Amino acid sequence: MASVNRIVIIGGNACGPKAAARARRCDPHARITIVEQGDYVSTATCGFPYYVSGVIAQKKSLFGRELDYFTNVFGVDVLTGTRAVAIDRRAHQVEIVNLKTNEKASLPYDKLVLATGSLPAVPNLPGKDLNGIFTMTRIGDALALRDLLANYERKQAAVVGAGLIGLEMAEALKVLGFEVTVIEALNWALPTLLDVEIAAQVEKHLRDKGVKVIFGQRVAGFEGDENNKVKRVMTKDGGFEAGLVLMALGVKPNVTLAREAGITIGKTGGIAVNEYLQTNDKDIYAGGDCVENVHLITKQKVLVPLGSTANKHGRVIGTNVTGGRETFPGVAGTAAIKVFDFNVARTGLSETQAREAGYEVVTSLVPNYDHATYYPGYKEITVKLIAEKKTGRLLGGQAVGPGDTAKRIDVVATAISFGASVDDLANTDLAYAPPYNSALDPLHSAANVIRNKRAGLAKSLTPMEVRAKLDGGDDFILLDVRTKKEWDEKRIEAPQVKFLPVQELRARLDELPKDAEIVVFCRSSVRAYQSQRILEGAGFKKVKFMDGSIAGWPYGVDVAKPS
Ligand SMILES: Cc1cc2nc3c(=O)[nH]c(=O)nc-3n(C[C@H](O)[C@H](O)[C@H](O)COP(=O)(O)OP(=O)(O)OC[C@H]3O[C@@H](n4cnc5c(N)ncnc54)[C@H](O)[C@@H]3O)c2cc1C
Repeated sequence: MASVNRIVIIGGNACGPKAAARARRCDPHARITIVEQGDYVSTATCGFPYYVSGVIAQKKSLFGRELDYFTNVFGVDVLTGTRAVAIDRRAHQVEIVNLKTNEKASLPYDKLVLATGSLPAVPNLPGKDLNGIFTMTRIGDALALRDLLANYERKQAAVVGAGLIGLEMAEALKVLGFEVTVIEALNWALPTLLDVEIAAQVEKHLRDKGVKVIFGQRVAGFEGDENNKVKRVMTKDGGFEAGLVLMALGVKPNVTLAREAGITIGKTGGIAVNEYLQTNDKDIYAGGDCVENVHLITKQKVLVPLGSTANKHGRVIGTNVTGGRETFPGVAGTAAIKVFDFNVARTGLSETQAREAGYEVVTSLVPNYDHATYYPGYKEITVKLIAEKKTGRLLGGQAVGPGDTAKRIDVVATAISFGASVDDLANTDLAYAPPYNSALDPLHSAANVIRNKRAGLAKSLTPMEVRAKLDGGDDFILLDVRTKKEWDEKRIEAPQVKFLPVQELRARLDELPKDAEIVVFCRSSVRAYQSQRILEGAGFKKVKFMDGSIAGWPYGVDVAKPS
């Protein structure tokens, strides 16, 4: 009789349980054990901010499967409150300790799975251990914070870091009645995910919702009161009051156990794995936040700690530890986040990342609506696409606004996964009916803008480039071709701005000097691009339009309502 395959899985949250469930379905006879140091398995980590805010009312909603479900349905042994403290690779066993009784034991394995996740990155700042300073990583953090906030004085709260968790927690604290300040060392919101013009819309929305945002400043430390409770966040400019601080500076792979066992750690700091998610030890697999991934576009090793990836890893590992040979292709860095009433989504490389990776890029910035504007309930979204200039290959996409952005970004992620170009995307057969879309999806328009740019028809400047020209006092005409009604409602105030509606443009061409540099804008760039073509047809040589026009113009202060 063949011997039973003994599979030990260290880590029982996302990747680990998924690996266990898949392994069981592939091998009904394996002896599968999950070792988890916490008291629970399969918690809904991504729901923690919504539990803290009360949007998720019940604690029980955060718990996935009951422990006895693993035992009864999957036939998996789950050791909670048990930490794996060492791996003896030669003897093929894991040393474990029961955290309540301190009892030690050895677990023999044929295949071992490391699903140890990540740890919050907390710099060693003065005052970091004061009461009232939190991280949000484990279920215990979410439960403790919600309990604490039930009787907490609603005053100032600080969120350190404007990444995914930081902004979700900023919203949660604001919903709970705090005055919230977000402080971020880099220069814009979601800085590793978004380009500046998309992030600027997120920043404006945060400010509109009453969140204070400070970019480009590092926290220097924290000051406490006589009860050892945080009262002030220190910066080089002095700082600000905060009786509650949420540290959200990202996470780092939890690899101590692996490193001590001689498992190779990659340059990124994550466990190095091959396409089978196998480590340098053929009997040890690893997945989830603790490993590094291959980026689908650059083929470089990257850390992209997401629950979506951890679950896919778990399935691949479950197959492979039971004799299968499945590969994991890599990640595009697809992510979505709700920021108050905005839906933010992204995939692939940002423009910044693409340029850093050495690509010559062409981009589009297209404000649009999530479905037909003659059907009630349509909402704005702005889509940015990034493509390789030489080939038109899609490199990335970002979308922001109150409308449905995740659907668009999932299409871009799919396209990127199959190596599609903007030409492919422009004619992809996406569904249309008025409640769901326009006949041309915003993605089709965004792809066509890039095609027009690659064909030399469309020429543009980004809002940032226009802003720099205005600030620098450049000699050019910023031509507003909207209607008089739109002009009266709001406009960009600057000496270079000239108002000339597109309907009158052909008749009033002589009002514009032929040799002037002209940058045209409208509401969303459709009329601006049309005007660029009219002007070029009339012999104007230095004409461009502003990508995204007023709808993509993030500098609210410059958009003035008439008195
Ligand atoms: C607040 C928040 C919101 C998030 N929102 C999203 C989202 O919207 N979308 C998304 O895709 N991702 C999101 N994520 C990320 C997602 O939760 C993680 O990527 C995912 O949980 C990683 O799964 P994992 O199994 O690799 O690691 P983890 O979930 O970190 O689990 C690792 C487990 O291993 C255990 N462990 C570690 N060492 C040992 C040991 N030596 N012995 C025993 N047990 C051990 C830990 O206790 C832990 O339970 C969010 C994360 C947070 C914190």
